[in-house]
Amino acid sequence: MKQYVPIIGMEVHVELKTDSKMFCSCPNNPNIDTPNKNICEVCLAHPGTLPVPNKKAIAWTVMVGKALNCHILEFSKFDRKHYFYPDLPKGYQISQYEEPIAEHGFIELDFVGENPIRDTAKIGITRAHLEEDTARLNHGEDGSTLVDFNRSGVPLVEIVTDPDFKSALEAKTYCQELRNIVRYLGVSDADMEKGQMRCEANISVQEVGSFEIIDGVVKPLNGIKLNNKVELKNLNSFKAVERGIDFEIKRQTAMIEKGETWVQQTRGWDDNKQETVMQRTKENAADYRYFPDPDIPPFHPLKIAGIISLPELPSQKRLRFREEYYLSYSDAKILTDSKELSYFTEAVMSDLVEWLDSMPESENKAENLPQKISRLAGSWITSKLLGILKEKNMDITDVKFSPENFAELVALIYNNKVNGTNALKILLIMVGLDVDKDPTHILEEKGWGQVSDSGQIETLVDDVISNYPDQVAQVKAGKDTVIKFLIGMVMKASEGSADPKAVEEILRKKLV
Ligand code: ZN
Ligand code: MN
Repeated sequence: MKQYVPIIGMEVHVELKTDSKMFCSCPNNPNIDTPNKNICEVCLAHPGTLPVPNKKAIAWTVMVGKALNCHILEFSKFDRKHYFYPDLPKGYQISQYEEPIAEHGFIELDFVGENPIRDTAKIGITRAHLEEDTARLNHGEDGSTLVDFNRSGVPLVEIVTDPDFKSALEAKTYCQELRNIVRYLGVSDADMEKGQMRCEANISVQEVGSFEIIDGVVKPLNGIKLNNKVELKNLNSFKAVERGIDFEIKRQTAMIEKGETWVQQTRGWDDNKQETVMQRTKENAADYRYFPDPDIPPFHPLKIAGIISLPELPSQKRLRFREEYYLSYSDAKILTDSKELSYFTEAVMSDLVEWLDSMPESENKAENLPQKISRLAGSWITSKLLGILKEKNMDITDVKFSPENFAELVALIYNNKVNGTNALKILLIMVGLDVDKDPTHILEEKGWGQVSDSGQIETLVDDVISNYPDQVAQVKAGKDTVIKFLIGMVMKASEGSADPKAVEEILRKKLV
């Protein structure tokens, strides 16, 4: 049996959220309800108008390039890419061909999922270039099509990778990481549903041993003719990226096994049918008749961008969260998935550190205290808080309580001032309130504090001992596991507010 593997590369377009469009001063707000509001002679391609490049869009593309470890070219220029379509009034798109702003970068990824082929990989970034978006076509049910030019001329960064992915999972992970990077950089909201980030995949399934990839270029081996690549579009969610690529791998493999071939083509992912459908056979680069745009002089991206300082990127934050807060890889990944959640976590952690520092030496006896408390905080955010938010269809930005008060709740749990059940109830109240309320106050108001007062517990223990003589006898006879039952009964009598450790201690003392 012959073995087959896919060669996969990604092309992602990201809309930059600059104030104005790429080559005119129209507001960059393509998602407003009123069609054709943010338009002018330039983005409608009236004859005689001239494009003026947006400086911030160039600077932000440099930033994206640097975040992807790219080389920033000293000489870059805009080119015209010619094709006809009703959403492109000039008959060409101003893009970049031979001298993109950034090229030859890489991104390092970790793959976590069902049976990843490998745990990590360094994926080559071929290029990142700047171009303009097209208008939007709205197809009516009566067969008519209306053109909305609000999006015409919105700045777009196109990021192309080397064909380095080995599976759909890897490609999806890349798209997620890229979205987080541009969000951390603050250059795009990259919401796939709104079309602010659009992913396309190039896929071709080949026989194992029929090719090698050198510097991002696929080379056939032993004179074998390689199978044509398929460009897959209309991947409107991360799920669609994964499913679409998986489908295409299976479809091509089945064709090869039947002895069939295919021409280079563009296919679209049909989310309803969960399959890819033929759209058109692909043009070659030459068909676009690229040439330098004579209206825009070449430029030096770094000189235009000025001093660029990159914020901490998701991968760096993940690493720091693991090292500084002793979090697991998966907790660190969840907590850095959005900038806002990572800021919340950092604020909680720094408050806990302050609280630890302020503790008297005598109370601060436990070993590895910072580890324990950070892990406790991390797990209360990932498992409890995010669970509640998900259930309520909320985001971390929707909560009204401060990280300080969340940190205080963690401290209460850590100090056995409240048990897990009641702490969760307090958290639910905090999430539901539209004010920032101190968890200690909620605890006192509700009387949910943990009873560790030995006098009170002792009374409850005495009651349980006299009510369950059989179980007491079993414990005394050496059947130690039965003590759990007795602890449970005391806890029940205290309505969950007794400190289980104190209960066990007192029980054992009385049962010797
Ligand atoms: Zn305009
Ligand atoms: Mn493009």
